[in-house]
Amino acid sequence: MKFADLGLIPELQRAVADAGYTEPTPIQQQAIPIVMHGLDVMGGAQTGTGKTAGFTLPMLHRLARHASTSTSPARHPVRALILAPTRELAMQVHESVQTYGKYLPLRSTCIYGGVDMNPQMQELRRGIEIVVATPGRLLDHVQQKTIQFGQVEILVLDEADRMLDMGFIPDIRRILALLPAKRQSLLFSATFSDEIKKLADQMLKNPQLIEVARRNTVSETISHRVHPVSAGLKRNLLAHILRHEPDSQVLVFVDTKMVCARLAHFLSRHDIAADAIHGDKSQQQRTETLEGFKSGRIRVLVATDVAARGLDIDDLPYVINFELPHTAEDYVHRIGRTGRAGRTGNAVSLVCAEERGRLAEIQKLINLQIPQEPIPGFDAESEFRDDGQRRHRGDKRQRSGRGSGRSGEGRSSQPPSVAADGFDFTQPYEPMARSDSRVADSQPDEIQPTAGARRHQRPIAFLLGGLGRKPG
Ligand code: AMP
Repeated sequence: MKFADLGLIPELQRAVADAGYTEPTPIQQQAIPIVMHGLDVMGGAQTGTGKTAGFTLPMLHRLARHASTSTSPARHPVRALILAPTRELAMQVHESVQTYGKYLPLRSTCIYGGVDMNPQMQELRRGIEIVVATPGRLLDHVQQKTIQFGQVEILVLDEADRMLDMGFIPDIRRILALLPAKRQSLLFSATFSDEIKKLADQMLKNPQLIEVARRNTVSETISHRVHPVSAGLKRNLLAHILRHEPDSQVLVFVDTKMVCARLAHFLSRHDIAADAIHGDKSQQQRTETLEGFKSGRIRVLVATDVAARGLDIDDLPYVINFELPHTAEDYVHRIGRTGRAGRTGNAVSLVCAEERGRLAEIQKLINLQIPQEPIPGFDAESEFRDDGQRRHRGDKRQRSGRGSGRSGEGRSSQPPSVAADGFDFTQPYEPMARSDSRVADSQPDEIQPTAGARRHQRPIAFLLGGLGRKPG
């Protein structure tokens, strides 16, 4: 199928051709005709599938009839609202709106927290047809009466599952209550929990279901592996792996911003060009870091789940889970950054004994027994082998070539508090001053940890002064 077959207006076809796309992706083939016809959509699609163009192109197609070069704000009411969970994702979606809408006189803007509200207010006053926003800051504007929704025709909720994780659903409901009942609504989510389905029931009318990847499935072009390793040896193992892959750009996931900042610092001190992206960084720092990574200047990006959500990074060969996520679905999101568009990718997880439960959950979700490959010199705690590992012992001996040498070696499983390089993990982490105006937008990384997450004792976080401290 060609883009021309979809019947998009010439202005959009030109913009698509400029972007270098020849064929619509599977989600685009499904979504574009449905959205063009004004129907509601419930879409199951991960980032990397082309879903942004899948909703942006037909949205622009429908809004084109309102395109006007008039300078009067009255001629530019808000017609479409796109809600995204994070600033980074909102910015990326807005970039797509600009890219695909460049030949149409429709105005768009991106609204997110952590920056001065005044320029956003001024822009809204000029009149804007398409608003891409994070929920918290949008509600700030509602409160300030700087935005009206009376003419909204299209609502898009992107990454709805992440909205849920971040506690944005009450904000979303508040926004929904302010929108005209007669509108077209699109909801996209990588996974569909019961809560997401409930939200979809409230928000969508007779939605068309679109799904490109099966629920919670991972790309077949990704090869997964687990390196069992004790918590205290993880960062040394990470440095070891990175040194063996000197030419690869790597996205490293951690659970908390405290570990995030410290780990990036550790790697930099070991001559590995790394930076961190997490909720305590100012918007400008986050944007610069992302640009640095995209341009290749930063080789290793250490990220928390929320900060990395929806990052559109081409051709990333490696994703490393320094810590396994507490929610199995997040594993799917994380590794969705690699193996995109049919390319091969590597999903590597450093797993300590305390994380075995999480590993079991992930394997169940993705229906895959991930091979375990111990790295000589970076042993796991003895408890690692105490249950499920027994089943793999034979394999492990073969792969590691170390026979039973791994078991009963009597090494201490206690991670040292001061590393060999003098890096003192007992020192509390000092977050950078937060410039964000709303908590929800500013430090989403540790908002609403699951009950399970709170219950877990996390040795790394503990060493970093993380346990028992309030987020941020
Ligand atoms: P998304 O899933 O929306 O984050 O898009 C992932 C990447 O795919 C982005 O870099 C897009 O520019 C790119 N992309 C979107 N549609 C197409 C297409 N039809 N052909 C090639 N690349 C595309």
